[in-house]
Amino acid sequence: MPKTKRVYTFGNKQAEGNGKMRELLGGKGANLAEMNLIGIPVPPGFTITTEVCAEYYTLGKEGVVKLIKPEVEAAMKGVEQIMNMKFGDSANPLLVSVRSGARASMPGMMDTILNLGLNDEVVEGLAKKMNNPRFAWDSYRRFVQMYGDVVMDMKPQSKEDEDPFEEIIDAVKKEKGVKLDTDLTTDDLKELVKRFKAAVKKVTGKDFPTDPWEQLWGAVCAVFSSWMNERAILYRKLNNIPAEWGTAVNVQSMVFGNMGETSATGVAFTRDAATGEDIFNGEYLVNAQGEDVVAGIRTPQEITIEGSRRWAELQGISESERATKYPSLEEVMPAAFTELNEIQQHLEEYFKDMQDIEFTIQSGKLWMLQTRSGKRTGAAMVKIAMDMLAEGMIDAKTAVLRVEPAKLDELLHPVFDSAALKKAIIISKGLPASPGAATGQIVFFADDAEKWAAEGKKTILVRIETSPEDLKGMTLSEGILTARGGMTSHAAVVARGMGKCCVSGAGDLVIDYKNRTITVGTKTYKEGDWISLNGSTGVIYEGKVATKDAEVSGDFAKLMELADEFAHLKVRANADTPRDAKTAFRFGAQGIGLCRTEHMFFEGDRIKAVREMILADDEEGRRKALAKLLPMQRGDFEGLFETMNGHPVTVRLLDPPLHEFVPHFEKEMRDMAAEMKVSYEVIKNKVDALAESNPMLGHRGCRLGNTYPEITEMQTRAIIEAALNIKKKGIDVHVEIMVPLVGTHRELRAQKAVIDAVAQEVFAEHNMIIDYAVGTMIEIPRAAVTANQIAEVADFFSFGTNDLTQMTFGYSRDDVAKFLPIYLEKGILKYDPFQIIDVNGVGQLVREAVFKGRSVKPQLKCGICGEHGGEPTSVEFCHYAGLNYVSCSPYRVPIARLAAAHAALKQQ
Ligand code: ADP
Ligand code: MG
Ligand code: MG
Repeated sequence: MPKTKRVYTFGNKQAEGNGKMRELLGGKGANLAEMNLIGIPVPPGFTITTEVCAEYYTLGKEGVVKLIKPEVEAAMKGVEQIMNMKFGDSANPLLVSVRSGARASMPGMMDTILNLGLNDEVVEGLAKKMNNPRFAWDSYRRFVQMYGDVVMDMKPQSKEDEDPFEEIIDAVKKEKGVKLDTDLTTDDLKELVKRFKAAVKKVTGKDFPTDPWEQLWGAVCAVFSSWMNERAILYRKLNNIPAEWGTAVNVQSMVFGNMGETSATGVAFTRDAATGEDIFNGEYLVNAQGEDVVAGIRTPQEITIEGSRRWAELQGISESERATKYPSLEEVMPAAFTELNEIQQHLEEYFKDMQDIEFTIQSGKLWMLQTRSGKRTGAAMVKIAMDMLAEGMIDAKTAVLRVEPAKLDELLHPVFDSAALKKAIIISKGLPASPGAATGQIVFFADDAEKWAAEGKKTILVRIETSPEDLKGMTLSEGILTARGGMTSHAAVVARGMGKCCVSGAGDLVIDYKNRTITVGTKTYKEGDWISLNGSTGVIYEGKVATKDAEVSGDFAKLMELADEFAHLKVRANADTPRDAKTAFRFGAQGIGLCRTEHMFFEGDRIKAVREMILADDEEGRRKALAKLLPMQRGDFEGLFETMNGHPVTVRLLDPPLHEFVPHFEKEMRDMAAEMKVSYEVIKNKVDALAESNPMLGHRGCRLGNTYPEITEMQTRAIIEAALNIKKKGIDVHVEIMVPLVGTHRELRAQKAVIDAVAQEVFAEHNMIIDYAVGTMIEIPRAAVTANQIAEVADFFSFGTNDLTQMTFGYSRDDVAKFLPIYLEKGILKYDPFQIIDVNGVGQLVREAVFKGRSVKPQLKCGICGEHGGEPTSVEFCHYAGLNYVSCSPYRVPIARLAAAHAALKQQ
């Protein structure tokens, strides 16, 4: 058996791995290898594979170290040779970083340790060799801090606790009377290291490790451990990343951005991650290291002059102040900038996607530390895909596949109404970190955002800056506002990834966590006050600002057209009113797959007639009430058919239990009694009699039409008359009448007989006919299993996967909240089957029904009309199951169209 290779080296334009090996090397490791192979300057190092992560979880620290030691030692030798330095040597020390790197990028989720290999002797050697003691001690204090936090568990566990190291830094700064970290002297830094180590000893009872190899093994295993930390677990959950994947560990020779005024570190995007514009942009800091840029402690500066000017304008900073205090990298280090600019173009052309890059400049020399496909907003995703298609960089299929269907959601929600915006009162302005319109109540803590969201409140999370601990609260708020941090700050990057509106770095805001207030000039806003954020301009408004509907136009419309060319599935919408139908149409629906007639019963004072019908003593009484409903229903259908202009419309006959329509409160019952001229008791008794112990399995669906055929008669008459009236106007109508909740073919036969008889009657009256289809929902397992019998009567099947899921699992949709979250947590269920179709169970029934149905009627039209119709993985299933269409809520139509194209393209 060949020996398993656990360590892959890279450096000096060579690499044992490459960019295609993401699964084994993680995204970061694979791209570090690939960058070497294409000649980009990358500090040498090696990657310990993701497989070792799994081994770590079975073998533990000692076992895994034993396993990888020989390969790691050999790889370290290679790095030493390239760098001409020695790990652990005090005269000529090699320092390394230890970096996590999963298959899918999880920015900031796991831990990185820099400057590893330092101890009291090595630091002196480094100082001497570099002739820069301040730099050596700055590196050392950073190392002790990171190692203490990550490996020795010094990180505070709750939000009230301060980071013990930050507390020490603050104390020393105060004693020395300085404001910035960069103002600390070498002696101050020595003092920091001393106090840091004492703190470690005090809290953990352990000495800070001095042996570089011991440090290395501690760090490597801490990275593996961080795969299972709370924020990584949450991030995986939010992004559907399996826990089995594991993380790789990258050990890489350090390059130093903290060596003084000719050194710097930064992050950049090859295109604008918020809007998608083809503009190189990013941020950097002189004399800084690692995450300084995104930490929000010092104000990062823009990389390009253009970006810098834009930023200054937004901040209200004059050009002269900008040029002296916040110059761009382009101005400060023109040579390094030129090289960086060339490399970013090279990387984008090479990877054929927008890249998110990290770099460090050591004494004027540029090093690349990371490249990956950049996270972006839905809008940017669409624009970049369509631009790259136009540039000829990618083909149409790739462009369509580049856009994640679920991301379109961001483009479908309302935007601020421009008239309302003009009138709105401006609080302040920050950076347009992630576009969108958000309105909500101010909260200051992530867990409050969670709590308020659970109470159904809309919140804006306001923070000085965010950290990975705030992730959950960020997902549950409408928008995020920070006082500190730039376009690449944690808040900005994460918000863009989530498609959440974010305004960052609003420096005028004075945020007081203790009193829970924001002060801007003379005005103060409290927790619970309403504010609105415009993530596209960075402007913050008082109160609620009105919004208007989104539109499918420009690049988005072009993308949708392309998607339709590739898709096999048609997309219809679930729409009950002409208004919904118009929205669906705007979003490209090719018909209505589900019109729930009962929703029409609640409009205006129709409910009175409905109640009269339900509470009537006999058929005659019911018919009298139904006669009142007939013209109203007919009017609704006319509106719908006219709007859909010849596209198919599936109308479902009355479905819910009648009890849902009757009054439940005494006052309403008394009103009803007066209206119907009977006593209160009569009504009360009727209502009580209608109650069922299990209404979802009770007197509903076609059981209503089969026990009270006059309901089906009235509805059929309304549908057919409406169709004829619209046809008379010269507008095409394509109507499909759908019988719900069929379990045996006889139920459908009986209803079809009623429908056909009424249709013939109406045709005779109007002396005119129209084509109509009669089909059924397949939502009871028995119907799926006996689909061959049902297909003999049905012109079409529509899978009602909400009920079908409920009945197949035996989970009541209304009570599922009691146990579903626990099932998900325990892994008994991998996902919520009401959101994502259960392919192995419910999906099997769908497949069987399609197969059996078409064995009788080969051309049987099949569709799906449950919530699943707009969920991308379920749409993919529908494609493979051979359905003709999916039907979903109007706002999900574009998502379903794109998902349908993806399914077809992936099958090719
Ligand atoms: P993340 O996955 O959170 O981005 P990284 O492993 O990329 O974490 O490390 C964070 C930052 O640390 C990098 O962006 C870079 O600035 C710095 N860094 C990592 N390794 C090195 C190195 N070998 N030399 C210099 N800086 C490094
Ligand atoms: Mg990184
Ligand atoms: Mg149903």
